[in-house]
Amino acid sequence: MTELPEIDSITVYAIPMRSKFRGITVREGVVLRGPRGWGEFCPFPEYDDHEAAQWLATTIEQIGVGWPEPVRDRVPINCTVPVVSPERAHDLVAGSGCRTAKVKVADHPGALPADLARVEAVRSALGAGGAIRVDANAVWDVDTAVRSIRELDRAAGGLEYVEQPCRTIEELAEVRRKVDVPIAADESIRRAEDPLRVAVAGAADIAVIKCTPLGGVRRALEVAEAAGLPCVISSALETSIGLSAQLALAGALPELDHACGLGTVTLFEGDLVADSLRPVNGCLPIPRTAPQPDAALLEKYRHPDPARTAWWTDRLARVWAMSDPRTGE
Ligand SMILES: [Mg+2]
Repeated sequence: MTELPEIDSITVYAIPMRSKFRGITVREGVVLRGPRGWGEFCPFPEYDDHEAAQWLATTIEQIGVGWPEPVRDRVPINCTVPVVSPERAHDLVAGSGCRTAKVKVADHPGALPADLARVEAVRSALGAGGAIRVDANAVWDVDTAVRSIRELDRAAGGLEYVEQPCRTIEELAEVRRKVDVPIAADESIRRAEDPLRVAVAGAADIAVIKCTPLGGVRRALEVAEAAGLPCVISSALETSIGLSAQLALAGALPELDHACGLGTVTLFEGDLVADSLRPVNGCLPIPRTAPQPDAALLEKYRHPDPARTAWWTDRLARVWAMSDPRTGE
């Protein structure tokens, strides 16, 4: 990065979630406009400035440079099934239009019987041709993972993969040696060097990547290539403005064999753009540029709390200064 783009409009937003997700009930962030259009800066509040700088690199690419040419014009999307009753899970999947469902499991100790019932309901909604993946969010130990994965695989009539069964790369590698179901690494991949570490350790068959923590679409493409693993692109819970960068990455990946986790705008009560990036018939189009916010929606979701607004603008200024070649690293 040799020069930073000029910014001419900044809005701090707060959008309620339909239900709690990743411990979040209200998603906050900043949208800003540069010479190439709009971008979003929304690193989770607990992330330090160093980590947030990667997110800003993604924003700066979006508003100042633009994205590489896509090789496809749309991508299949998975629907997400939270911890709900089997009936609700069935309805969610049947109504989604998606051919792939990602089922959250292992939400609490002793969850397996309910998880098995939910996965069976999802299979009955999808039919034999659909794909089911489960996400344990790193909570199992190796033995619990091996036992649970085998039972879930049976209940699902075959799992596409299991996402992050355990916390460490070593545990993932051990589980992978013991089960036939492919393993995907998600939480293990947060920094640019992680996908390669996961691949070298034999810890996963699939890498779940997001361009935001990796520092942009181009950087994420390099990281994916270096890892040499099939990738699934996932959102970082952005509005449609930031989500468009994740779609640009999904559009530019040379190979894409799995549905992506980019149908997340539906988790929000609202969005900043009028034509939201919500999946239609299980797919999302690859945008060439980020969508523009709608003036009324920008006003509706403008952060009501001056203290939080100041926190976000201070954070943006601090991380921006770190990225400035004249003043920082
Ligand atoms: Mg995950």
